[in-house]
Amino acid sequence: MKTISILVPCYNEAQSLELLHKEIVRVISTLENYKWEILFVNDGSRDNTMEVIKGLREKDSRISYVDLSRNFGKENAMLAGFDHAKGDAVIIMDADLQHPPAVIPEMIQKWEEGYDDVYAQRKTRGKESWLRKKLTKSYYRLLQGSSRVDVLPNVGDFRLLDRKCIDALCQMRESGRYTKGMYCFIGFKKIGVEFETQDRVLGESSMSYKKLMNLALEGITSYTTAPLRWATFIGLIVSFFAFAYMIFVLVKAFLYGDPVAGYPTLLTVILFIGGVQLLTIGIIGEYLAKVFVEVKNRPVYIIREYKGNEDE
Ligand code: UDP
Ligand code: MG
Repeated sequence: MKTISILVPCYNEAQSLELLHKEIVRVISTLENYKWEILFVNDGSRDNTMEVIKGLREKDSRISYVDLSRNFGKENAMLAGFDHAKGDAVIIMDADLQHPPAVIPEMIQKWEEGYDDVYAQRKTRGKESWLRKKLTKSYYRLLQGSSRVDVLPNVGDFRLLDRKCIDALCQMRESGRYTKGMYCFIGFKKIGVEFETQDRVLGESSMSYKKLMNLALEGITSYTTAPLRWATFIGLIVSFFAFAYMIFVLVKAFLYGDPVAGYPTLLTVILFIGGVQLLTIGIIGEYLAKVFVEVKNRPVYIIREYKGNEDE
């Protein structure tokens, strides 16, 4: 019998977990030809998420959990899940019920048809502010434009991955993780299924604008080195204009003499070039910082406790 793992990273999700578990059980009880593992990764929650998970595990032996020593962020928590999931396929979903378990049967059907990566695609983005929608949209356009590998918009972490994909993802141990880019990087046969995003039922989204902004920057810098190239181009263009302007100034000085004026031009040009230089150094710094973090080669997450399925 094939085993399917459902992987749920949880950070302060005590309120949602019981409901989520009920929903999952309702759906998987209709799928009798599989063995199930429900793997919760507690990402250093500050509330009693861990107690709730332990409580659920007492009632349902299919539940296993990984308890991380502190909050490592969703991306790292997911890697902890990939490392411990036992299934022939792994379904990743959020704990807040924004990812409806009702889509699971359709995902499995596609998997059985031979697809390795069945991603769930949002038809709408649910209740989100206008600004957030606009920002997300232009962000994806930027990301898409700056690299050769496709990043799919409106596709999140809600997906079913074959064992092959999981093994591939486990090989990527970098600490600055951008898993959305990794799904695309590993390739394999992909297909989407559509779903309607629900609004977060309980609790609050931990993704503030600041966190999203950081994730976005992380996304670009870990996904592509295009900004470094942009920096080169900006340098080239500015040098070209500077050179042309120099010729112009020289010729003017020779032909008409030089009445030493042009303080405003001088100031704006210096400020402009200074700005460009700082920006470029900043871009280089972003990548340098990444190299710094990666060469330390620290573990991506640290485990306090792992409880797997005992009857194996
Ligand atoms: N999450 C996590 N670690 C974190 C932040 C979030 O494991 O540091 C989990 C969270 O419990 C949820 C999922 O990641 O299951 C998505 O988080 P959230 O709903 O806050 O994000 P959003 O849906 O707003 O993108
Ligand atoms: Mg959410």
